[in-house]
Amino acid sequence: MEYISNPKRYDMMTYRKCGKSGLKLPTISLGLWHNFGYIDRLETAKKMIFRAFDLGITHFDLANNYGPPPGSAESNIGKLLKEHFGSYRDELIISTKAGYWMWPGPYGEWGSRKYHLASLDQSLRRMGLEYVDIFYSHRYDPDTPLEETMGALDTAVRSGKTLYAGISSYPPDKTQEAVIIMEEMGTPLLIHQPKYSMFVRSIEEGLIDVLREEGLGCIVFSPLAQGLLSDKYLEGIPENSRIAKETGFLQKSDVTQEKLNQIRQLDAMAKDRGQSLVQMALAWVLRDPVVTSALVGASSVEQIEENVNALANLEFSDQELQKIDNILKS
Ligand code: NDP
Repeated sequence: MEYISNPKRYDMMTYRKCGKSGLKLPTISLGLWHNFGYIDRLETAKKMIFRAFDLGITHFDLANNYGPPPGSAESNIGKLLKEHFGSYRDELIISTKAGYWMWPGPYGEWGSRKYHLASLDQSLRRMGLEYVDIFYSHRYDPDTPLEETMGALDTAVRSGKTLYAGISSYPPDKTQEAVIIMEEMGTPLLIHQPKYSMFVRSIEEGLIDVLREEGLGCIVFSPLAQGLLSDKYLEGIPENSRIAKETGFLQKSDVTQEKLNQIRQLDAMAKDRGQSLVQMALAWVLRDPVVTSALVGASSVEQIEENVNALANLEFSDQELQKIDNILKS
């Protein structure tokens, strides 16, 4: 049965221009890394995707290996698109990536042209799509000439299998080189996808400057540090949390006493602002307009609603920003 989306969905979301391109992305996007694989309940995944779209989240981010098992998040979204959602294809930005291990042998990971183009074909088949909107090189490969990986992205765009090309987790110098190579090929890079949150700030040391200067979009992943930037771990490890799940990427050892102390102080500060810590953490990554979108994950519809409500207050005073810096150094 075709899903009928909320006709007011575009009133609920703001959209930011993706660098100097003509593409706009929702200020909050949804990633399908956890909670959308075959091991998860498809019914919950379906509810989250529909609710996200009802709230104006037009962008869903995938990679070849998301699941588990690898590939199953793409297969699941393909099933939902085919059965309920296909008529909205032109209102959606669907991205995928290649870079991490996907199949055995020398052509199933890293940066080669062979791997990237084969992987994109597989992703399209799993999702039942003719094209994705953004295709990323998922990580920089020091053993493959950058010209080769970028050449694969250029071919992917020219063949119509993706509309735009992106890179993820590339260091600043390789990002700069990639921008130049792609410009020379006539297929400008659209976007970079780095990790960024109050707990992981390395992009402030160079990468942000490159993105600003080159006019690349920036969609930041794990803005909640995989859920650490919430009040959920303050009293232990709740059932169903990412840490409690066997396949979750976040580990118990990531919850240190130092982090808990910081989380407690940040939580109190967020309450003073009339927000939850999750909402303040999202507002914080979005404080610089160079960040096009905060790419969140979720395990429930309620989390997505709370995250979108972060947009009600994105302002920080200089004193508040200083206070956050001080807490993070404490
Ligand atoms: P987040 O930092 O947003 O963490 C998501 C987790 O935080 C959720 O699973 C949930 O944890 C918790 N959470 C979310 N909202 C709330 C809320 N309102 N209240 C309480 N807890 C909340 O991002 P992810 O680490 O999931 O990454 C987001 C996306 O970024 C991925 O899906 C993927 O698309 C992309 N990504 C890209 C990478 C790359 O290399 N390019 C690497 C990693 C991610 P819980 O399950 O415990 O409820």
